[in-house]
Amino acid sequence: MTDLPPGPAELVAAVPGLARYLRPATLLHPYAAQPAPGASGIGGPARWPGGEPWSHCTARHPEEDDRIPHPDPELRAVPTALVPLARIRAEDAPHLPWPEGTDLLQVLWCPNDHDDIQGERYYYGPAVELHWQRAAELAPATPPPPRHSEEEYLPQPCALRPEQLLDLPDRDELPEELARAVAEFTRRQGLEYERDRGRADGWKLGGWPSWHLTDLVPIDCGRCGERMNHLLTVESGDDPDLSVGRHGELHVFVCPVDVAHPVGLDLQ
Ligand SMILES: [Zn+2]
Ligand SMILES: [Zn+2]
Repeated sequence: MTDLPPGPAELVAAVPGLARYLRPATLLHPYAAQPAPGASGIGGPARWPGGEPWSHCTARHPEEDDRIPHPDPELRAVPTALVPLARIRAEDAPHLPWPEGTDLLQVLWCPNDHDDIQGERYYYGPAVELHWQRAAELAPATPPPPRHSEEEYLPQPCALRPEQLLDLPDRDELPEELARAVAEFTRRQGLEYERDRGRADGWKLGGWPSWHLTDLVPIDCGRCGERMNHLLTVESGDDPDLSVGRHGELHVFVCPVDVAHPVGLDLQ
């Protein structure tokens, strides 16, 4: 047993100050398969309230403008349909900030690059929308295909094997003294905190984001200024065959004051 990497329980036992940084998370473990009807999944069939129009993006897309010169600038404003990225049932991630009466989260994105999303100064990637819905009010829907898209932002359908766990943050997020105590403990075990235990990697809901590429970048709500919480990590890879950033991770953040405030985005 002693050669197992210490999980969060062992880390917290050794460094009690970590306890208040434990956050519930769900690792999604996507695998290529058509998700069962009504189950959580990535890509694949959408559900939508009957009679409500599907979501569209009205942003200007730099790539699209480069490739298809529009003699008429009006054409740039033609909306393009968002595509379903993920569908999450509340029972698979009960720790998310579900608004009263909702039990299904649909994450849609515009499968194009965006360089002018409000409040995202250094961001270049898909635009993301969250829809907190009530499954009983939704019907199977066939969204219109996007007018333009980047191949690497079109997810292949995946089913999920949700695994709930407790997550710890990267050392960047910890006060200096605590970060030092953690580093000392893991070094004595011949381990490295970030790599061997701290934070769980992969497609993840809740928990903590990785800051492996940049140092910690505080993500504050563009609407109210509150520090936002990590909601979703999208990981590049074979299942569901997506690539974000430089084949890295996309982090979606949500406002703790109101989940209806625009999401925060970060690429690692
Ligand atoms: Zn767009
Ligand atoms: Zn806010």
